Amino acid sequence: MFEITAELEGTGARAGVITTDRGLIHTPAFIPVATQATVRAVLPEAMADLGAQALLSNAYHLYLQPGPEIVDGGGGLGRFMNWPGPTFTDSGGFQVLSLGAGFKKTLAMDPGVLSDDVIAPGKERLAHVDDDGVNFKSHRDGSIHRFTPEVSMQIQHALGADIIFAFDELTTLMNSREYQEKSLERTRLWALRCIEEHSRLQAENPDRPRQQLFGVIQGAQYEDLRRKAARDLGTMDYFSGFGIGGAIEKQRLAEIVGWVTEELPNNKPRHLLGIGEPDDLFHAVEAGADTFDCVNPSRVARTSRVYTRRGRYNLASAASRRAFEPIDPDCDCYTCRNYTRAYIHHLFKAKEMVASTLCTIHNERFTVKLVDDMRAWIIDGTFHDHKREFFENYYAASTASSQ
Ligand SMILES: [Zn+2]
Repeated sequence: MFEITAELEGTGARAGVITTDRGLIHTPAFIPVATQATVRAVLPEAMADLGAQALLSNAYHLYLQPGPEIVDGGGGLGRFMNWPGPTFTDSGGFQVLSLGAGFKKTLAMDPGVLSDDVIAPGKERLAHVDDDGVNFKSHRDGSIHRFTPEVSMQIQHALGADIIFAFDELTTLMNSREYQEKSLERTRLWALRCIEEHSRLQAENPDRPRQQLFGVIQGAQYEDLRRKAARDLGTMDYFSGFGIGGAIEKQRLAEIVGWVTEELPNNKPRHLLGIGEPDDLFHAVEAGADTFDCVNPSRVARTSRVYTRRGRYNLASAASRRAFEPIDPDCDCYTCRNYTRAYIHHLFKAKEMVASTLCTIHNERFTVKLVDDMRAWIIDGTFHDHKREFFENYYAASTASSQ
């Protein structure tokens, strides 16, 4: 269930509340990623302390390890990882096709050349898509697996998250227009199969917590395809909300999210998959997206990069060696209240694990708080002023000091 509480005039931005069986999510909200049923290097209590309202795990990873039956046996995703609040799982479609196909490693990335067979010379394609599903090789041990819409629903039903996503085909920006059209129709038919399988699973297991199924909008960079996908899936009443997925060029993010949200029903939440950089979050919120997930805040934290309102910097650089001050004097996180840059710089140099923990807490708090602030700015009508101020401080400083 989703209720809109405020809208920002002249934009698509809105504030609202998603109700799940395990609690409320006030939107816009950033949902930290707990890929393998943990936010890497951080305890769940710390995630609650820093204001995370929900966590998102990956069906693909939990299917391969430990297996959905183990998570189910442990009481479902939330209880298994000791997170009492709402949880999301993604469908596995992204990982099957990006890790399975090894987008970064095995695709010949030549922007500008449209091709449906973009494997780098000498590399093997690890995922094969047909109309019924996807065969893929595990990135862990090379074993062969098959995902179909039904398999994804069965896995996500067993994992037991509150919000789950329909199985979709991820394409790349390099695929031909013809392939994108074919793929979009495949994703539409898969959405219908997901609905059928998920409603069957819920009907057969009335005692399990109710799950909300979100359809996923693809269509790459094509306006007509994105709008068509949003209209097609938007009329499927079973969906409680929608994911916006697929390849999106950074500079066109606001435009593409805008096409989709214009077509989608207003009274259901929209989750933008895999987006978490500050500028992208501002643009997407303004275009009408409600929730976001991204591994970046924790991933870059482990490589000593920290976000502040004055830009991102690298704690491992010499500038922090004698900096006996917090990462960000304006931050209220546990790390900034208790530790100095100099200390965390030392931990990174000494290769101590707690360095990653402290930086992850800070970066997750920064991102969660930024989107929380956007919600407050939508409600009090000051969004545009704060956005301008943020961009001036963050990006002016970033070009001077970021690395
Ligand atoms: Zn902090």
